[in-house]
Amino acid sequence: MAFENLSERLQKALKNLTGKGKISEADINDASREIRLALLEADVNFKVVKDFIKKIKKEALGKEVQDSLNPGQQIIKIVDDELTKMMGEEAVSLNKSPHIPTIIMMVGLQGTGKTTTVGKLANYLMKNEKARPLLIAGDIYRPAAIEQLKQIGQQLDVPVYSEDNQDVAEIVKHGLEEADKNKNDYVLIDTAGRLEIDEQLMDELKRVTEVAHPDNTLLVVDAMTGQAATQVAEGFNNDLDLTGIVLTKLDGDTRGGAALSIRAVTGLPIIFTGQGEKLTDLSTFHPDRMASRILG
Ligand code: GDP
Repeated sequence: MAFENLSERLQKALKNLTGKGKISEADINDASREIRLALLEADVNFKVVKDFIKKIKKEALGKEVQDSLNPGQQIIKIVDDELTKMMGEEAVSLNKSPHIPTIIMMVGLQGTGKTTTVGKLANYLMKNEKARPLLIAGDIYRPAAIEQLKQIGQQLDVPVYSEDNQDVAEIVKHGLEEADKNKNDYVLIDTAGRLEIDEQLMDELKRVTEVAHPDNTLLVVDAMTGQAATQVAEGFNNDLDLTGIVLTKLDGDTRGGAALSIRAVTGLPIIFTGQGEKLTDLSTFHPDRMASRILG
């Protein structure tokens, strides 16, 4: 299960503080050390960890906590609040275009779950907003990806625009014309990925952006990649003005590094999470709920 080890270690570190009438500086230092190690072991970015520990210590040593009836509980609340802040505080929604269609472009490295997430998001929008989306197959280098998207389209009974053309920007342009004709309220664009970021991929994605002017450019990130995900996000963000992150594979035994580092390092909000291969396995991301889940 995701975050299992991190959860256990944080709970253990905090347990020593509960039930004590008075908490000494040494107690706080001990707990901070444990929390620090737990976060580093979960592959959270070291600078994020350092800032986090500094804040926790400062607040825990403050008069308000020290004078309270149950300082241990207060410290747990501080950790909870700071974990929430680390992941972005408030839930963030998709940007909506003032006129239809709202355009969502999905980008990311190969195998992170882009094509699957296009399907999940279409399903989510249909369920929650009675949306009538059109999907555009822009991952032209992998015939299997086009086929996969077509199958998803059949499953959901939504149109998938594809074309035998080597120019993705042109495909997207034609797909958008189709959406205009059909009055689709959402257009979801699947794009190609690579094993790592390269110039050719970025050039292609930039050209698609120039044609599509997406309201949302979502980077799909595999939670299992840990904090390395932050470098990928920064790489994509340099060229593409990302608007948010979809963190996939949270059903795996990820340690937590990506979920806990990506917002703090890049400033980009996690908007959705994926927790399975089915089209229904998509959730909106709530930093406070995630923090509570981690703290148990
Ligand atoms: P793409 O190359 O980025 O388009 O990735 P795909 O959408 O083809 O997904 C790659 C693999 O990851 C597929 O086997 C998906 O079923 C799987 N996958 C995608 N999202 C999730 C998820 O949230 N959890 C799990 N367990 N598998 C996922």
